[in-house]
Amino acid sequence: MLQVVTIDGISGSGKSSTAKLLAKALGFFHLDSGAMYRMHTLTSMKQGFKPDQHSDLKQVADSLEFSFAENGELLANGQSLPKEIRSPEISSHVSEYCKAKIVREALAKQQRKLGVSQPCVAEGRDMGTVVFPDAQWKFYMTARPEVRAKRRAKELEAAGMQADYGEILQNLQERDSKDTTREHSPLRQADGAVEIDTSDLTLDEQVSILSRLVRTAP
Ligand code: C5P
Repeated sequence: MLQVVTIDGISGSGKSSTAKLLAKALGFFHLDSGAMYRMHTLTSMKQGFKPDQHSDLKQVADSLEFSFAENGELLANGQSLPKEIRSPEISSHVSEYCKAKIVREALAKQQRKLGVSQPCVAEGRDMGTVVFPDAQWKFYMTARPEVRAKRRAKELEAAGMQADYGEILQNLQERDSKDTTREHSPLRQADGAVEIDTSDLTLDEQVSILSRLVRTAP
């Protein structure tokens, strides 16, 4: 089995913060597949492409070469990913840009290559189902919508961006609906994935639950 921990789940369920700290605790790399889709959306929008221009979007995917820096940072064409990938504008468009099968296949291929190159915590929507079906440990994270919106608002504020709670809640729910109903690699709980509801857990609790399960699971 592959030395990969997959964490899939709905937006704002705590995947990113948990994955980052879990990777650190285990000495694994953190593979943030959402950041790759966000970078792809940002680049496609800057080049003026619309979500239905599939072959252009595939070319954008092929023009982005993702790699890990020595310290584990995810890079695109050797550069750090810009803060803009987390902006509300990109958040509201990414689910449309990442739908096309050829785009998903191109980015999944890169994710797989990165994930097999060293032990990883791979986080996203289809890590345990499509990209790493043979991962050794799989998790599926959920949380109540209002908890998720509050967390996202706090994150944006901490990053110096404007945060409107109502808009964030609406965006999270729209993204969940698009991500779970799309034709190719929709978000769903992978076979064998342990479900964790993070609504009433602190970040430390989430990390310690997952790291205990990873360390004790065969
Ligand atoms: O994880 P994050 O919220 O940054 O992901 C942004 C968006 O990228 C998701 O809402 C989803 O549309 C897309 N995504 C995906 N498959 C993944 C990771 C992210 O479709 N593995």
